[in-house]
Amino acid sequence: MEILKQRIIKDGRGAEGGVLKVDSFLNHQMDIPLLNAIGEEFQRRFTGEQVTKILTIEASGIGIAVIAAQHFGNVPVVFAKKTKSRNLDGDLYTAQVQSFTRGTTYEIQVSKKFLGPQDKVLILDDFLAKGQALQGLLKIVEESGAKLVGCGIVIEKGFQEGGKNLREKGIRIESLAIISEITEGKVTFADEFGK
Ligand code: 5GP
Repeated sequence: MEILKQRIIKDGRGAEGGVLKVDSFLNHQMDIPLLNAIGEEFQRRFTGEQVTKILTIEASGIGIAVIAAQHFGNVPVVFAKKTKSRNLDGDLYTAQVQSFTRGTTYEIQVSKKFLGPQDKVLILDDFLAKGQALQGLLKIVEESGAKLVGCGIVIEKGFQEGGKNLREKGIRIESLAIISEITEGKVTFADEFGK
């Protein structure tokens, strides 16, 4: 997605440990017209899939998913919660996730009320690095008996193994920008995974 790549080049900042900072437009301050174009592009890629629910993970996935949902006929967005709270009642689907950016492990939870065998689920998230967050969400979809349509990712870091591992398992991953390298703050893109 060209406008996204251009924006990453203009405003993305390479940080230590292969981390790309995009907080001026994606996951702290959010550029709404850009998010709208991202939602439109996800819809184009998953046209005809009759998605009934979008699943994401708090916090950064929520804004992306909410705008994208409007391009999928206003389907509900469910987000996995990272902390237990009294608002989470009843039976829960849970999964353990190792955080790439924090280096810790946490549990994600989704209420069984909001996902079930009748659903066709599209998973959306901001980044795909080692694939831990997606694996947690995939486990929850599998447990729920819902059908997985695929995963839409805004930025995939192709130099980390997450995308490759998940594609090898036959999971459809659509990434709008795939980065092959971040060196001295300069970002290089791969046109397709593996290039
Ligand atoms: P994974 O579980 O695939 O290793 O990492 C995915 C999660 O880690 C994403 O939801 C995102 O929040 C965070 N993340 C991974 N890599 C980066 C990065 O380079 N920059 C930022 N801002 N977040 C990242």
